[in-house]
Amino acid sequence: MNTRTHYDVAIIGAGLSGLAAGVRLAHFGKRVCILERHSAPGGLNSFYSLDGRKFDVGLHAVTNFGRPGSRGTPLLKVLRQLRIDRDEIEFCEQRQSRVAFGPAGETSLRFTNDFTVFEGEVARLFPAAMDGFRRLVTLIRSTEPSPAATGVSAREIVRRHVGDPLLEEMLLCPVLFYGGPREHDIDFAQFALLFQAILLEGLARPYEGIRAILRVLLDKYRQAGGERRMNCGVSRIVQRDGRAVSLVLDGGGEVSADEVLSAIGGPETAALIAPAVGTPGNPAPGVITYVETVSVLNREPADLGLGGDTIVFFNDSPRFHYERPGNQVDVRSGVICMPNNFDFGAGRRLPEGLLRVTCLANYDLWAPLPEETYQADKRRWFPLVQGAARRVLGPVADAAFDAATIATDMYTPRTIARFTGRANGAIYGAPVKSPDGATALSNLHLCGTDQGLLGIVGSMLSGISMANRHVLLKAGGVGAAP
Ligand SMILES: Cc1cc2nc3c(=O)[nH]c(=O)nc-3n(C[C@H](O)[C@H](O)[C@H](O)COP(=O)(O)OP(=O)(O)OC[C@H]3O[C@@H](n4cnc5c(N)ncnc54)[C@H](O)[C@@H]3O)c2cc1C
Repeated sequence: MNTRTHYDVAIIGAGLSGLAAGVRLAHFGKRVCILERHSAPGGLNSFYSLDGRKFDVGLHAVTNFGRPGSRGTPLLKVLRQLRIDRDEIEFCEQRQSRVAFGPAGETSLRFTNDFTVFEGEVARLFPAAMDGFRRLVTLIRSTEPSPAATGVSAREIVRRHVGDPLLEEMLLCPVLFYGGPREHDIDFAQFALLFQAILLEGLARPYEGIRAILRVLLDKYRQAGGERRMNCGVSRIVQRDGRAVSLVLDGGGEVSADEVLSAIGGPETAALIAPAVGTPGNPAPGVITYVETVSVLNREPADLGLGGDTIVFFNDSPRFHYERPGNQVDVRSGVICMPNNFDFGAGRRLPEGLLRVTCLANYDLWAPLPEETYQADKRRWFPLVQGAARRVLGPVADAAFDAATIATDMYTPRTIARFTGRANGAIYGAPVKSPDGATALSNLHLCGTDQGLLGIVGSMLSGISMANRHVLLKAGGVGAAP
């Protein structure tokens, strides 16, 4: 087949940013098509079936919750711009989470969706740092949520304000784990954005997980007349005179469009452009990636004695090492998620217990392994990752934990690279972002992770704002951009 279809806008990638951009454009009558290499939508936040169970790929928690009554939050902007009523997706709040440092998480800062809880914890454990912490929070609140880099180190600013090395690490830990694209530190603007998203606006989850969000986006997109081609990767972007003139598809067909939005990442998009345009400025891929283990339990984690926390960011010592590990996995720190511990309403429970644990990993040490060694290494690391997490949770005997475990799964940086095309399996993309979405071609724009907004809400907001800026505002078809 070698026919070429022309669209107003072609979107590469049916992750959350691509879907949100598609919905927005289709609502304004644009002829739009989303091209996705895989059979399932969602990208880094998709779901899959294993032995009859549906697993979420990424979802621990939706950040940016914003309690009812709050105004102007990113989540509310996303819902409004996509014409989604708040009750079309029922967000259930976290119960209680923690940042836990020490071999057994002895030094813990609890937080809920009520920020005064976190403030109280900082005051209890770090009374001498409290004034500085308050000033830091004021600065964060007054920092406009924007992906544009300030060029200022968040670590420097946090250190200057709180003056306590342990508190500095405990404040950086959740932010870096949920969005740090480079090792050790993060730009202050991104720190402020993520601090607001996690700690000020808070965490929630739809009862059905990511499927509830994807279903609404896909329904809206279809109803508005958007087209979607699955199993249809873009293998090459043909450029002429500085413009993308055609997208060559894996199967050999071609698509052209007035404007192209790419949600697949900066380096990954640059690699598709042929003939190659000037490499200076092409972003280098990131190296931050994870393994994740999932244990399905025959009862709620709390009933097994693992406690009632929703999310736990843990680290076994006073120093937090956010970096590509020298080993396949670094089990010194990680993120625990127990989805059963969201507040789903009286009497409503998930059908099975779930314990998910994420740890930093090294893509290069997973990618080249022969299949047999790869599987053996997964089996070797699984108990080590789970063991690291269980040291921080309530004490449960191995025998009791094993008896309650009815299924397990584990994925690695290699899985992430394979299913999303992200170079190095880097889940937060390239360290250098493109806040205006600019690429080497004038009608090709980035959206999603490498535009600089990430996470579930951030990537949707990115898709919307890039669609507004590069298509709708240009055409004079829309009012204020988000
Ligand atoms: C393990 C893990 C846990 C996470 N936990 C959370 C969480 O708890 N809360 C939260 O808010 N966020 C979380 N995230 C982050 C969140 O999933 C991402 O920030 C967000 O989904 C990124 O969306 P995106 O649209 O930018 O990119 P992607 O999701 O990467 O979408 C890009 C899409 O493009 C497709 N594609 C790639 N190359 C091509 C090509 N050449 N042609 C066609 N299609 C192509 C891919 O298949 C993919 O579907 C997590 C991510 C991971 C991996």
